Amino acid sequence: MASNLKTKDKTIADLQKELQQLKKRNDKLVSENTDLMKIKSDYENMSEMFGQFSVQFMESRGLSPTCKICHEIYDTNLHFQATLKCGHTFGENCIRDSLQSNGRCPVCNKRANASDINRVY
Ligand SMILES: [Zn+2]
Ligand SMILES: [Zn+2]
Repeated sequence: MASNLKTKDKTIADLQKELQQLKKRNDKLVSENTDLMKIKSDYENMSEMFGQFSVQFMESRGLSPTCKICHEIYDTNLHFQATLKCGHTFGENCIRDSLQSNGRCPVCNKRANASDINRVY
């Protein structure tokens, strides 16, 4: 019985030690994770700042990288930059929808239709 109890004590001590180690490891992981989260948010802030900067920079030179219909930045997927014969650029889907309803460039009002839409590469 006595030896049994001793084994039990030892096991508890071992478990406590293990628990301590796990706790330490967990603390370390939490702090590493916090670092990662910080890096991630820094990166997001930076790319957001950079995005805003380049939009402002381009717009200050009359090169709007954003669609005049939805004011979103162009991408190479659903919002492909496209131009009309008049030279105005819009997101491809935005101008397609717009031309379907009024058949004119939303900026200069020149007549245009879907076949006038050209992607900008
Ligand atoms: Zn758009
Ligand atoms: Zn136009």
